[in-house]
Amino acid sequence: MRQTFLVASFVVFAFGSTASAQTPKPPFTAKDAVEGKRLADLSLDLREQITTAKGPTDAFKIMGNLYFVGVQNGEVYLLTSPQGHILFGVGFADTAELVQKNIEALGFKMTDIKAILLNHAHGDQSGAAAWFRQKTGAQVMTGFAEVQFLEHGGVLPGGIPRPANGPPAPPPGPPNRLQRINAQFAGTQQYPPVKVDRALFDGDVINVGPLKVTAYLSPGHSPSPASWLYTVRDGGKDYRVLEYCCWEYPDDITSNAYITESGVRHNLELFRKLLPVDIYLETGANGWSGILNQPSGTMTERMEKLRTQNKYFVNREIFKALSAAREVEIEEKLAKAKAAQK
Ligand SMILES: [Zn+2]
Repeated sequence: MRQTFLVASFVVFAFGSTASAQTPKPPFTAKDAVEGKRLADLSLDLREQITTAKGPTDAFKIMGNLYFVGVQNGEVYLLTSPQGHILFGVGFADTAELVQKNIEALGFKMTDIKAILLNHAHGDQSGAAAWFRQKTGAQVMTGFAEVQFLEHGGVLPGGIPRPANGPPAPPPGPPNRLQRINAQFAGTQQYPPVKVDRALFDGDVINVGPLKVTAYLSPGHSPSPASWLYTVRDGGKDYRVLEYCCWEYPDDITSNAYITESGVRHNLELFRKLLPVDIYLETGANGWSGILNQPSGTMTERMEKLRTQNKYFVNREIFKALSAAREVEIEEKLAKAKAAQK
């Protein structure tokens, strides 16, 4: 009797999961989606190990003329040229000097930074923007719908808050894993306001000397987060680099002020447009291809390894797999929301 019950349960479970699972559309495969889910889970596991997000860490070369210059959470990258540099992200309001130290330790001058590209208006990414704009004299650029938040220090006049980072407050009870992780970012929502010099729209190109970066907007994590696509050359080879922002959406993607089904469908198309991606970066170091591509190790061990073995950054399957998994997740959320409306 007991055995029959177990077998019956298994059949129901197996049937249930097959019936509800979505398959991503080409060029993504079901196998990509399974691998992407594994990578997304690994990324969250590693993110939980970053307990001092604002802590200092040494800068290093990612590939070619691209450098990591941020803090333990990631956040800041520098793309250099003899005619001027581009800074991606600036980090928290109170880690500005750590980032400056990292840039100068590599031998680069703050005043050679000509453009500061902010992918969205959250404080971990943009908190030090006013400080860096003043110190470097660089032009600040961001997705058009982030501008008002940046120019008012994260909160619009009238007290309209910038979009929440991730799921809304949970009902009474223990917070979920993402909410526990995000608790580290409490108090960073407001920061010194910064004047934005250029509002970016989907497909806009930013040029500094020979550097060329294309901005792609994907609403969800905030109103118009920008992802950055560009090429770096190393050892006679070109690598397509993408810093994507950001996967983390509110749980209900149909009744949030900053996200709509049509916006999300634009993002699903965007994932395909960005392929292939050789080197994949996120704002958080835990999501880098170089971190996820290693067979084992803690977050600290993996970061250490990248300083001497940047080959781990190169893997075209990582962004493809993550995109496939996110498409499945998003389609499931949309289907669930539609079913609830009936
Ligand atoms: Zn954010």
